Amino acid sequence: MEAAIIDGIILSKQLREEISQRTAQITKKNGVRPGLAVIIVGEDPASQVYVRNKVKACEDVGFHSILERYPDTLQEEALLDRIKQLNHDDSMNGILVQLPLPKHIDAKRVLETIAPEKDVDGFHVANAGALMVGEPEFIPCTPYGCMKMLESIDFPVKGANAVVVGASNIVGKPMAMLLLKAGATVTVCNSKTRDLPSHTKNADILVVATGRPKMITGDMIKPGAVVIDVGINRLPDGKLCGDVDFESAKKVAHSITPVPGGVGPMTITMLLMNTLEAAEKMH
Ligand code: NDP
Repeated sequence: MEAAIIDGIILSKQLREEISQRTAQITKKNGVRPGLAVIIVGEDPASQVYVRNKVKACEDVGFHSILERYPDTLQEEALLDRIKQLNHDDSMNGILVQLPLPKHIDAKRVLETIAPEKDVDGFHVANAGALMVGEPEFIPCTPYGCMKMLESIDFPVKGANAVVVGASNIVGKPMAMLLLKAGATVTVCNSKTRDLPSHTKNADILVVATGRPKMITGDMIKPGAVVIDVGINRLPDGKLCGDVDFESAKKVAHSITPVPGGVGPMTITMLLMNTLEAAEKMH
């Protein structure tokens, strides 16, 4: 039997309906809308598309959203000053600075300047630390979305062997922390891991976030596993694919997220959720 598809578009739609309703309640009660400020520096075409999608998603659920575009000649101090202003702007519950930033700007310094209570991307060390000690405030959007996908299929996480392939600060590491908090036994693999299949074949839950197209094939997956594919890669023919070879994996897995239409839509949805939660905390 082929794996069930965990559809990120359908799940996102359901969650965005819930976000719209909760937004309407805040607006009715306080006369204000949750606000998100999105900042982009430079002309990177992919980033331009991402920020437009984020702002559109905000409008669709009833948020107030501003998009500030700056040329890649912007000086770091000017960006930091603008973030500090937004930290004190009560109409903005969330601040998002689109990455990557131009090389002359220290991204770490920028992310640390965002007030933790407005850090809806969950990248500030205060939020990373809170997650590490098991008391998350803002969870990075992509792993947060992956956990919602797991919840949606009712697969028992407690006691499961979970393997996360990829250990970045924005996906792999926070994902591992969330799985650990949910009671899984977690293994994190990276590019130096020896004999990767020996780990992946032991996974009841396999999360892959490496940026290596189709690197996980069906023969590396335990029969009956849940496979969450975070990767987004563009092939030479222009098509998108994940880090998992979908065709061979779906013959073995219990359920699997497709690319596109899996984790991608969930990431923006969880950005909306974090912004809503920031607004609910403030009001
Ligand atoms: P990074 O490049 O920051 O991290 C990649 C991680 O994968 C590193 O930890 C690296 O190991 C590990 N890795 C690389 N090659 C291998 C290998 N052969 N075997 C095992 N581990 C390996 O990537 P991101 O975490 O930012 O993104 C990963 C993927 O997810 C990308 O395709 C990206 O486009 C996608 N993505 C998708 C999102 C979505 O919304 N769906 C959001 C964010 C990212 P090491 O630490 O040793 O270098």
